[in-house]
Amino acid sequence: MLAPGSTIGILGGGQLGRMMAMAAMQLGYRCIAYAPPGDNVAADACADFFENGWGDRAALTAFATKCDVVTWEFENVPLSTVAAIPQTLLACPARALEVAQDRLGEKRFIAELGGTSAPFARVESEDDFARAFDAVGTPGILKTARDGYDGKGQWRIPSAHEAHGLRFPGRTCIYEGLVEFETEFSVILVRSASGEVRFWDSTANHHEGGMLAQSVLPAGALIEEQVPAARELAAKTAAALGYVGVLTLEFFATKDGPVFNEMAPRVHNSGHWTIEGAATSQFENHIRAITGLPLGATATRFASIDMRNIVGADALTAHTILAEPGEPHLHLYGKREAREGRKMGHVTRVGPALK
Ligand code: AMP
Repeated sequence: MLAPGSTIGILGGGQLGRMMAMAAMQLGYRCIAYAPPGDNVAADACADFFENGWGDRAALTAFATKCDVVTWEFENVPLSTVAAIPQTLLACPARALEVAQDRLGEKRFIAELGGTSAPFARVESEDDFARAFDAVGTPGILKTARDGYDGKGQWRIPSAHEAHGLRFPGRTCIYEGLVEFETEFSVILVRSASGEVRFWDSTANHHEGGMLAQSVLPAGALIEEQVPAARELAAKTAAALGYVGVLTLEFFATKDGPVFNEMAPRVHNSGHWTIEGAATSQFENHIRAITGLPLGATATRFASIDMRNIVGADALTAHTILAEPGEPHLHLYGKREAREGRKMGHVTRVGPALK
């Protein structure tokens, strides 16, 4: 168990790190974070912030020297960066990042555990396109195998004919068949170093332009039916990775059962509702898991939950939400630039308390 006053190092500087640091502070820990220069809003909640490149060995060593444990809030931290940190400081094996960083490897990993994903093919060149369309069929989605997030690095391909003129992005891609789904959901779990696993309720997740817009409970009958199988796969994934902390798996709920989409080896946007809506939030349980504290209960506290992201310029007027009925819980991330499509905050509305 990490003693109060110990220092947690966070790789990444975004809103997830910010909310993680806020939870850590409540438990008597101090956080320091490390990320390349940018709008690093985690810095506001951290005792110290290293704004250095991922490849800056000297800065990484200086950062690690100050940490009692190291975690991440961003799944694309380069593996070479993580390798430069003494491995005994890592709360969770780097293998989780390695798997999640490559959409191709991730789908193979899930298949080995018995999970179902969209049919897919690797695309390395312009010539591979035609082969991929033949093998997988259309419609589909071409995605960069690495570094994509929030729908970035993705191109919808309605038909092979309409793909003419699409230029190969010049990096390894995955072409996936378009899954016909009714709705989407995620399984968010926390796993302790001793292998104890707890799950939060799965919300129905609505995306706009490839980015999460809203998470809702109750999630509906179809998702509720599919959650047990999805949880089983998520728990197997966590065990296979020797995972410690919060892990998220995203699924499509189809008429044939849950289809795995992708995993995030971290706290997740679709779990922001847990701050007010669950007995223990995803952020607090992540901190508890990585510091060796007992895990907290994950039960939902309200009959209904509605979490919506605040995106782009909407953040500039977001304080007006506080005057709305129903006591909305507003979270703004303190980002300096309200760029279009950028997650600036979220608001959670809760229904009647559950007894
Ligand atoms: P991703 O970045 O892979 O999570 O994709 C973002 C969103 O795009 C997903 O949450 C879905 O709404 C949609 N999407 C991605 N891949 C597929 C697929 N193979 N079939 C249908 N929809 C998809």
